[in-house]
Amino acid sequence: MKMEKENKNEANSNKSYNLNNINHTNVGEVHYGDKIHQEIHDNSVNYEVDFPEINNIETLSIYLTSHFKERNIGIVGGISLIASLVSIFTFLNSFMNDIQIINWLPKFSQNTGHIFLIVGVILFVLGSTLLNSLRYKQHAKCKSCGKEYAYKPYKDSNVKDVETKEGTRRTIIDYYKCKYCGNEIERKRHDFIPNEEMSVEDN
Ligand SMILES: [Zn+2]
Repeated sequence: MKMEKENKNEANSNKSYNLNNINHTNVGEVHYGDKIHQEIHDNSVNYEVDFPEINNIETLSIYLTSHFKERNIGIVGGISLIASLVSIFTFLNSFMNDIQIINWLPKFSQNTGHIFLIVGVILFVLGSTLLNSLRYKQHAKCKSCGKEYAYKPYKDSNVKDVETKEGTRRTIIDYYKCKYCGNEIERKRHDFIPNEEMSVEDN
């Protein structure tokens, strides 16, 4: 959600991204020399990974937005997400024998409750897929020439890992270029990997 950083902020983000996870209050005032110091101090690790795979989400997004109104995709996606939460909380209500987590939601037997879990997960996947394909369309529109589905990743993404007591704070910067006019942008993604999962790499 906070991934998009405009090209015009490039200089700023380059200067501050090393400190995003460490010191939120001073980010704007930190100078280059401090950054180096901070990096050494915090044992951050920088490396490159393959750029994100976008073919699937792009195909889906083009298909959906050419067959349905974007507004309707948004409404169905939003309702699916809300319904998935209700369904999952109904599962939780039913799963705990003595406790009812949310009073106004029904409580069923554990077996019936599991059906609500499955339905909730399906609705969640459906809702987030619909909303993601809408968001992808917005993200892929060129800021410069205005063409749709224009931005493609063009070089490997930059990753910065900062170790903390609880786990690793990861910042990933993806680089996109407009396939029509060549306008370049970068987008940040943030991730947190708790210590127990350190052996499992995402992507
Ligand atoms: Zn363009």
